[in-house]
Formats: sequence, C-alpha cells, structure tokens
Amino acid sequence: MSSLTLDRPRPPVVRPGARVPHAIVIGSGFGGLAAAIRLGARGYRVTVLEKLDQPGGRGSVFRQDGFTFDAGPTIVTLPQLFEELWALAGRKFSDDITLKQLDPLYQIRFDDGETFTESNGIEAMRREVGRLSPGDVEGYERFLEKSKAIYEVGFEKLSNVPFHSLTSMAKVLPDFVRLQSWRTVHGLAASYVKDPRIRTALSFHPLFIGGNPFAVTSIYCLITYLQNTFGVWFPMGGTGALVKGLAGLIEAQGNTIRYDAEVAAITVEGGAATGVRLVSGETIAADIVVSNADAAWTYRHLLPAEVRRRWTDRKLGKARYSMSLFVWYFGTKRQYRGVPHHSILLGPRYKELLRDIFDRKVLAPDFSLYLHHPTATDPSLAPPGCDAFYVLSPVPHLGSGVDWAHAAEPYRRAISDFLARTVLPGLEENVVSSRIITPLDFHTRYRSVLGAAFGFEPVFTQSAWFRPHNRSEEVDRLYLVGAGTHPGAGLPGVLSSARVLDSIVPHGADLA
Ligand SMILES: Cc1cc2nc3c(=O)[nH]c(=O)nc-3n(C[C@H](O)[C@H](O)[C@H](O)COP(=O)(O)OP(=O)(O)OC[C@H]3O[C@@H](n4cnc5c(N)ncnc54)[C@H](O)[C@@H]3O)c2cc1C
Repeated sequence: MSSLTLDRPRPPVVRPGARVPHAIVIGSGFGGLAAAIRLGARGYRVTVLEKLDQPGGRGSVFRQDGFTFDAGPTIVTLPQLFEELWALAGRKFSDDITLKQLDPLYQIRFDDGETFTESNGIEAMRREVGRLSPGDVEGYERFLEKSKAIYEVGFEKLSNVPFHSLTSMAKVLPDFVRLQSWRTVHGLAASYVKDPRIRTALSFHPLFIGGNPFAVTSIYCLITYLQNTFGVWFPMGGTGALVKGLAGLIEAQGNTIRYDAEVAAITVEGGAATGVRLVSGETIAADIVVSNADAAWTYRHLLPAEVRRRWTDRKLGKARYSMSLFVWYFGTKRQYRGVPHHSILLGPRYKELLRDIFDRKVLAPDFSLYLHHPTATDPSLAPPGCDAFYVLSPVPHLGSGVDWAHAAEPYRRAISDFLARTVLPGLEENVVSSRIITPLDFHTRYRSVLGAAFGFEPVFTQSAWFRPHNRSEEVDRLYLVGAGTHPGAGLPGVLSSARVLDSIVPHGADLA
C-alpha cells in the first residue's frame, strides 16, 4: 500500500462556556462531505447546504424500476483516503463499507474487436502487453517505473500541499523538469512503447478527470501507476454506499446536512466571508465558509464581482473547461454474463475524436465509450435476472452549441446500436429502465459552468498555483474544496482537496 500516513484529529479543546465556531459547507459532493468531516473533527459545528435532495453531487444515486444506478464515480482507488475519514470521525471504515477489489481492472476493446485486459499485478500486465506487442514489454516496464516516480511526487508530495504562493510553485519546478512534465500523457507513453494500442492503453486515464491525454501534463501518468499498483475497488451497494457512509459520519459528529438548500450568495463584510444567503432568501451566519460548488460557479455566481481581483468574469470567461459527458443509465431484463465490470469501448478514431471534443467542440458521429456493469460485481443493484449498466460518452461542453434537447435521443440510439453490435446483443429490446444526462444536466443539476463534467481542464496552466486556491485569493474565511480547486477532479483529487483544507483552516478551538 502507499506510504500515505493517516491524519489524527487534534481533539477539540472545549472551554466551559466557549462558543463553538460555525462552518458552512456549500455542496455535498465527495469533497464537501470530506471537508465537513474534517471540520467536525477540528471542533466546528458544521452545516452542509446542498441544492439537491440527496448527498454525493456527481456521486448521487438514481433509483428507478428496481435498479440502483450510481450517477458518477465507479472506479474507487486509494481506499486509505476513505479509511482516514472514518478514523477522523472515530469509526472503522470496514464496519460500514465492504470494498471488493476488482480483477481485471478493466477491459479495453479496440474498434477491430481486439481487446487489452488491464489486470492486477505487474506480471499479468507484462503478459498482456507481450501478447499484443512483444517488442513493447521492456518499454512498458520502464514506463511503469517512470509513472511510479511521478506518483511519488505528483500525488504523495504535491496533492496534499496548498499552492498559495508562487514560491510554492517555484519549489516544485525542479521536480517537474526532472519528471519531464512538459510532455503530455500520451507523449510520455509514446516515448516508451510503439504499438498505438499499448500507447492508448497507457494514456487514456486523464479522461477520467476531464483531461485530454494529448494535452494534459504527464504528471497524470500517476493514475496508471496508482490503479495498477494499489488496485481498483468497488463498494458493495455501489458508490452510493460510500456517500451514505460519509453523510452518516457527519450526522454522527452531531452536524447537519440540509437538502434542497441552494446557496444564492456568499455574504461578505470587510473583506471576509460572513455566511451565505439561500435562494429562499434565508441568511445563515458562519465563522468560515467552504465552497464545494463548482469553483468557477462559486466565483462567477456566488461572490460579488466587486470583491474579485483574480477570478474576474473576464478571466473565468477565458478559462479552459473540461469536456462534458453524455451518460445513459439503463437496466436490462436479461443478464449479460461475461461483460466485465468496467469496459472501455474504443471507436475508429482516438486523437482526432479527442480533438473534436476538446478543441473543435463538435459532436462527432463516432464515439469512444466507458461501459459500467456494476451487477457483474454486485447483483443486488438490479432486480433478479436483470442487469444494471451505464454507458458514458465524452462530448464537448456547452460551448459547442449542441442542442441537446433534440440531439440526445438520436445520440442515445446510436450508442445503443453500437453496443448491440459489439458487446450487448439484442440490447434495445431488453431495456426496461432508461435515463440519460447530457451537458445540460451538468449545468442545471450540478451548477457547473458550461456543463463541464470535471470543472477546469487540468492543463498545466490551470494546475496547482494556477488553479483557484483552496484558501480563496479573494476574501478571508472562504475556502474551496472539490474538483475545481487544487489538486483537481476524481475521488482521490477531491478527497485530497479536503486534506489540504485541514492544513489551512484555523482549528475550531482557536476561533471559539
Ligand atoms: C459520470 C462521471 C463518472 C465519473 N467516474 C469517476 C470514477 O470512476 N472515479 C473517480 O475517481 N472519479 C470519477 N468521476 C469524477 C468525480 O466523480 C468527481 O470529480 C467528484 O465526484 C467531484 O466531487 P466534488 O467534491 O467536486 O463535488 P460535486 O460532485 O461536483 O458536488 C458538488 C455539489 O455541490 C452542490 N451545489 C452546487 N452549487 C450549489 C449551491 N449554490 N448551493 C448548494 N449546493 C450546491 C451540487 O448540487 C453538488 O451536490 C466521475 C465523474 C462523472 C461525472
């Protein structure tokens, strides 16, 4: 396992008659839930305010027709980040959550029907690389060594530190140079292996956090190492079980999550956050405010323009936002045995398709898909004899001008036909439950600027110091956690943003 060390809470010092300081957390995504637990352990009374009727944000759960569909994250890595939160709340993770390690991790299917299975263990991976491209085994081993070095710096060292000053950025530049961070993820993979299929297999991972493998810094090769070395896990009951567990910890700490409570504004006095005003008009005072809402949305819509010096409307307008997603959740009345839990189904184009999505911002007629089949691991997520799935297609964000109200159904149909031709024969006549989300939902449901699925695109010029800081640059007593701040999207990223928060908020006892 990794060398991450668990945080231990400094026990709240309760002085008789002392006031307990109040923290508001806007949003109950994984970052917001983790932040609330950490603030609870630091002696705050915490109120989480959530726009939706349930916790989890992108990790919320759709229940319909007897099926349980996790809306978002399905690939759980680094369980120790969750164990740490349970420990901070004085509980044991394994008492509440059963995690199952997956092997294989996932299967990639190329357009010609050839597959590449990503498995646990270096030996199995060596064999699989050798099966497709014997000449690339040695290059694969060297790539893995390189991605280990990148993980040790990129995750263990950099993801847990706040980047509040240019000096902190300057300090890590030698690491970036040593690790060749000016290369892209695909560029780095391509410098080690020759077969285009192996290059793809070693480089597609940044798509899980909203990055184009041909554009993001090779720092993100750490994901390959992290998944291959520490494994990929699935919580029995679905990712929703983790959300439920985290919400339970907050309540067990004596704190509150309020649903259907959308924040309209962060109130500011004398250059410091003083609380929030809800859409309903209610105002709530707080000693500190932590926003887990989309970082660009927080600055654009929740904080008045006159207090913003860095994150002006102009700067936010020029920023690069991640791609969005089209997701089709569906239940079938039959089971598709043999379809793995996680599959990547690649279409005929890779680089050019990504250009369409990220640069040209057009909805292409072809696609590359991620297929989630949770009932392969946990049959309880569907009625007996049935299967639950979701299929996800990266698509351009709303800057594309695509009219999703009209484009959604034909797009779903094209995906369904593709799945029927490839891995799910007879699909359309077996579907008994169906729901889709498009970039419009990322905008309206999650309040994400341009409907981006992962917030700011994780290019080098929008990373670390260049990203919105965890301690707001604009007003005092305002903090940011979640995908739009440092270190970035993905469960390890947003849980780490709450770890960073822990190192920069005052201890509750110091504000009492
Ligand atoms: C389909 C999909 C699949 C993914 N798969 C994976 C995966 O397998 N593994 C992985 O590690 N990552 C995955 N990710 C990425 C990961 O899910 C996200 O990066 C992460 O969950 C984002 O967490 P967050 O803390 O930023 O909060 P979010 O999930 O963005 O939640 C923010 C919350 O704030 C609320 N909110 C917003 N504005 C307001 C307001 N004004 N007032 C009150 N509440 C507000 C929203 O309703 C929401 O609940 C996936 C993402 C998606 C969309």
